[in-house]
Amino acid sequence: MTADLTDRTDFDDADRGFIGKLIPGVVKTADGRVVWDIDEFADLVQGDAPATVNPSLWRQSKLTSKQGLYEVTAGIYQVRDLDMSNMTLVEGDTGVIVIDPLISAECAAAAIALYRQHRGDRPVTAVIYTHAHLDHFGGVLGVVDADTQVPIVAPEHFLEHAVSENVYAGSAMLRRSVYYAGVPLQTSATGRVGLGLGAGGSTGTYGLIAPTLDINRTGQEEVLDGVRIVFQLTPGTESPAEMNFFFPDHRALCLAENATHNLHNLLTLRGAQIRDPRIWSHYISEAIHLYADDTDVAFASHHWPTWGRENIVTFLKEQRDLYCYLHDQTLRLINQGLTGPECAEAIQMPPALDARWHTHGYYGSVSHNVKAIYQRYIGWYDGNPAHLWLHPPTAAATRYVQVIGGVDATVGKAREFFDQGDLRFAAELASHAVFAEPENVAAKDLLANILEQLGFGAENATWRNAYLTGAQELRAGVQPTPMTASAGMAPAMTTTQLFDSIAIRINGPRAWDTALSISWNLPDIGESHHMELSNGALIHFRTERSPKADLTVTLTRPQLLGLLFAGTTQGIDMSGDSTALPRLLALTDEADPSFPIVTP
Ligand SMILES: [Zn+2]
Repeated sequence: MTADLTDRTDFDDADRGFIGKLIPGVVKTADGRVVWDIDEFADLVQGDAPATVNPSLWRQSKLTSKQGLYEVTAGIYQVRDLDMSNMTLVEGDTGVIVIDPLISAECAAAAIALYRQHRGDRPVTAVIYTHAHLDHFGGVLGVVDADTQVPIVAPEHFLEHAVSENVYAGSAMLRRSVYYAGVPLQTSATGRVGLGLGAGGSTGTYGLIAPTLDINRTGQEEVLDGVRIVFQLTPGTESPAEMNFFFPDHRALCLAENATHNLHNLLTLRGAQIRDPRIWSHYISEAIHLYADDTDVAFASHHWPTWGRENIVTFLKEQRDLYCYLHDQTLRLINQGLTGPECAEAIQMPPALDARWHTHGYYGSVSHNVKAIYQRYIGWYDGNPAHLWLHPPTAAATRYVQVIGGVDATVGKAREFFDQGDLRFAAELASHAVFAEPENVAAKDLLANILEQLGFGAENATWRNAYLTGAQELRAGVQPTPMTASAGMAPAMTTTQLFDSIAIRINGPRAWDTALSISWNLPDIGESHHMELSNGALIHFRTERSPKADLTVTLTRPQLLGLLFAGTTQGIDMSGDSTALPRLLALTDEADPSFPIVTP
């Protein structure tokens, strides 16, 4: 750690403008289930870092525990740490504009109630989504009704990306997010100490209202409730659909999630498509160029604001350089022949950047971001044909263990490396032992102990969570994840995405010998789709004139959702071979919501 632990600037900024907080800092559902408890977290992160938490992460956790309503500048307020993200409130002529209504409706309702308690009972006159991630729109039904007439403003292609990022690999991402968020862990000095980006995510009800006003160019100016806003589109940065925006009359700049007080993820550990650090850096640079001269305060949808033109320019230039440096240096080394892990090991941040807290990897990390850049340009194959056709984990582990002299000998060797402090290699060896003999308690215990120590040392909150969740699952097995009943995202999916969600569940081998075709008519939304199954592949496309099919299904879009998600066929008109649809659905598999990760 090279940044200065005695520098209090971030703490002063995080406290600045404090108005009041929710007491107690607990949010519940109507039936009493706790969906957010910031008090437990704030109580934990008092005093000096315990030996079981990296001091730099501990510091960040203190900063992300400061719940309350804060004045950013006259007319602009933020509710922070009533969820993972910030809700920003901008007062207009007749009411208040809400920027980013948190993850869940319960937290969003609590946040706006806190605001109104101190600023009066102003109606919501517009909602702005800065980008297409759940923690920036999911709680919208907590601030407006589903049939609201107020403008819902978002960057172009918002809806497509809000849905698509989580559609196809959604189940696997959900399972992996248990690790990166540390879902089964207790909030404690030996468990979860936040997420770096915030204290954690709320677990209430989420939903989505589609945008009614698209922002489709930089320089677009809108007046919402009398407030002038100039937009900067930043597609392909932290989200495929994202935007910064400037309030000229407030001299305030909203940076969405493009510049926050940590090194962000280029590839989140839950899995995602990799983001583009080159374009990210470019848009931060553009924001400096367009707005910095006229800005007195810059705020984002996570963490605390930065005040003062000079501080803002310094902060933005460092964030800009951070992503640029990672991108350019990774490519420089790739072109010298280094592979992903080698680049990740070789790249060190410039000391001047490393000396600044906001460049540290509490959420993203230099190590996994560099590997992500390698993945973006080069892919999984490192070019060495010895690695082209490796055995998968269990087959490899069995062979390694055999060569080492059995599972007990492997565990013994792993313990030696553990005792010498080489936790990385100790984990690799112990994992081979577990994959070769998953019931071996000594192997699992040792691996759990190694992962735990790796977690205690990690500056990155998601690494800590991953290590400690792995340790917990080795000791106690996979715990079922409590699922929340939510309005969810299905209503926002296109028909093509809905049909894709069937296609990716077709069990190929079982479907090898089945051929069928279905014509789908959805008169209420004016769509027809043709679908056919052959060779285990489900092909479908939108068409004006459907080719002849075994079965023709005519239904409304709500009926299609009912059919796919609840198996309801009531009121659906079918003509032709009525066995085609049940035969198709019988060939689908369900995703496994709790597949093993640290064991085979
Ligand atoms: Zn976010």
